[in-house]
Amino acid sequence: LDLNLVPIIEDNDEFGGVLLVLQDVTAIRRLERMRSEFVANVSHELKTPITAVKGFAETLLGGAVDDPETARSFLQIIYDESDRLNRLIGDILELSKIESRRVPLQFSPIELSSFVGKTLELMSAEAVRKQIRISAKVEPGLYVEADEDRLRQIIMNLLGNGIAYTSEGGSVSIAVEPVHEPNAVLDEDGLENYEHIRIYISDTGMGIPKKDLPRIFERFYRVDKARSRSSGGTGLGLSIVKHLVELHKGTITVESKLGVGSTFMIELPVLQ
Ligand code: ADP
Repeated sequence: LDLNLVPIIEDNDEFGGVLLVLQDVTAIRRLERMRSEFVANVSHELKTPITAVKGFAETLLGGAVDDPETARSFLQIIYDESDRLNRLIGDILELSKIESRRVPLQFSPIELSSFVGKTLELMSAEAVRKQIRISAKVEPGLYVEADEDRLRQIIMNLLGNGIAYTSEGGSVSIAVEPVHEPNAVLDEDGLENYEHIRIYISDTGMGIPKKDLPRIFERFYRVDKARSRSSGGTGLGLSIVKHLVELHKGTITVESKLGVGSTFMIELPVLQ
């Protein structure tokens, strides 16, 4: 509570008493605290790659540049760290745009089997590189009203995580299912009358410890910092995904078993 005392002066300039103003500032304070925590996190995250870039550039300038092999490996590090900075800044800007609702969504009907097929194709190079099988199970004729680019961003992010946190030889899969209301009247193929759809993205990867599950959608939260870094993660992906799902009036949940794998489930209303 914020407490303010305001003296009351009457028309004839006499002291008329004191007005006590109590204001509940819990919400404001909480927002302020969250904002300054975010700024601290961002600064810390930016500092790590910048320190590396600066350090390796200094070493090169100090003479390492004369040894071609060392020079090449240091330049590669500088390149990779700049790339990382770029991704980080891109994600921070994206998140801030989404959070301040400066992303106008353009909804259109999307046929999910062809949409999922195309999205999977975009991820195939990465999957092949890591020797991970990716597959989809979507019956044709299922529709959802969504912003196509944003929906692709959501799916690619989750598939990308699936690939990143699964070791060679594992698999990542995506499935879409209509959710029928309890007393819906189904037509022959059972496709009509679904008001929600569920998208499941599963992997046979490392899984997420139970204690971390409630926190993985938080900004910059990672179970294993080193692992996230080496896979090129910024720690903002799931936070962006969650916001985008919510902009579609949907929900996202996760189930995971350590050493067995994870499944992310998105539920979206069919009509916006
Ligand atoms: P990052 O850029 O680190 O991947 P995300 O926001 O996408 O950030 O994910 C947050 C953290 O959640 C990751 O660092 C990782 O620890 C964990 N995580 C996300 N997806 C998976 C997955 N499919 N399997 C295991 N852990 C995951």
